[in-house]
Amino acid sequence: MSTGTEQSKAWFDRAKAAIPGGVNSPVRAFNSVGGTPRFMVRGEGPHLWDADGNRYVDLVSSWGPMILGHAHPHVVEAARKAATSGLSFGTPTIGEVELAEEIVNRVAPVEQVRLVNSGTEATMSAIRLARGFTGRTKIVKFAGCYHGHVDALLAQAGSGVATLGLPTSPGVTGAQAADTLVLPYNDLDAVRQSFVDNPGEIAAVITEAAAGNMGAVAPDEGFNAGLRDLAHEHGALLVMDEVMTGFRVSSAGWFGLEGVAGDLYTFGKVMSGGLPAAAFGGRADVMAKLAPGGPVYQAGTLSGNPVAVATGLATLRAADHAVYAALDANAKRLGDLFRRSLSEAGVTNNVQYAGNLVSVFFGEAPVRDYAGAQASETWRYPAFFHALLDAGVYGPPSAYEAWFVNAAMDDEAFSVIEAALPAAARAAAEAVK
Ligand code: PLP
Repeated sequence: MSTGTEQSKAWFDRAKAAIPGGVNSPVRAFNSVGGTPRFMVRGEGPHLWDADGNRYVDLVSSWGPMILGHAHPHVVEAARKAATSGLSFGTPTIGEVELAEEIVNRVAPVEQVRLVNSGTEATMSAIRLARGFTGRTKIVKFAGCYHGHVDALLAQAGSGVATLGLPTSPGVTGAQAADTLVLPYNDLDAVRQSFVDNPGEIAAVITEAAAGNMGAVAPDEGFNAGLRDLAHEHGALLVMDEVMTGFRVSSAGWFGLEGVAGDLYTFGKVMSGGLPAAAFGGRADVMAKLAPGGPVYQAGTLSGNPVAVATGLATLRAADHAVYAALDANAKRLGDLFRRSLSEAGVTNNVQYAGNLVSVFFGEAPVRDYAGAQASETWRYPAFFHALLDAGVYGPPSAYEAWFVNAAMDDEAFSVIEAALPAAARAAAEAVK
């Protein structure tokens, strides 16, 4: 139960003076739900504590990375051990090789992988590599998919771009925007037509392996396979963005569930253990084009940072079968609770899954694409969100984000959620447009 938000309010005022909007990533600012973002000071297991001493069941899990819950002893110990041996060397290290091998061994189409610092860097580099490999310029992406804040990939993006209702971003040049073809998700005919309209020009199709940035929207049966076939038929590459799904929805990510091989992959979040690390990888013949062996330049002072590599490795090694079973069970349990409480309050709802990513859409129709997500009753979300927050349940502060469970959630955490949901469902029912 909330004990007040005075400290968070005071810190947010200070933050707004020193940091644009008071935050270092837009969706943290609560703009679309209103109110004061909570300043978190501690996390342990399934819980977060804010600066006022309120405890929350965390259903954001740092936007995905914390599959084991917060401050997992193995991960903390790995960070401590690595840090005491030095924070950064700017040389090759053994841990980088072990993390790269861990990824390559899990995701069969990934023959080689390069470590970077963020998901944005991973997709930016993958796109450059696809262009360098094919000698083509255009990229196909899907509305509502978010691939980080790469200039070329911001058009009709999901996540914070959707939350703030931005079509794209000032600062992206006309040429960059013109090289990006934005199509509806789950629409293979549109992809087919796009290849016909742009013969020999499309370097790559990039897609979230399962969409999680317009809410959880799984690909229709055959969509990813169709993308692969169309891309290959027309000499383009398929880039599977698994930054969100990678090592979360299964030990081999969405590939592990579906088995459709992309040419290039991007990863982040879980494989970082919560520190800044990410990766891109794929076919060896494509990765061979990267510097220093090939001409496509890509680099990073802190890439493969020893502490981030250690926490990533510790997380992946601790994520055994039981962890994935717990993630799946917790996602189902959460979705069932959403559905039950909302239905009891008379709110028409669609609880959707993409593996163990969950989201709740208010309204009649199942959501298959961004237009569907936008047509849902997103105006009910702020009331739902705040009622949960006041009762100690921290959900994503945006109607367009997935809910991320972790394996540390226990019966007590679920009892807090269960107790909070009836009032939140009533608040959603009473919300006005
Ligand atoms: N790709 C996907 C699918 C994402 O969900 C995100 C972030 O949420 C990114 C790329 C960008 O990752 P980062 O925020 O680490 O730059």
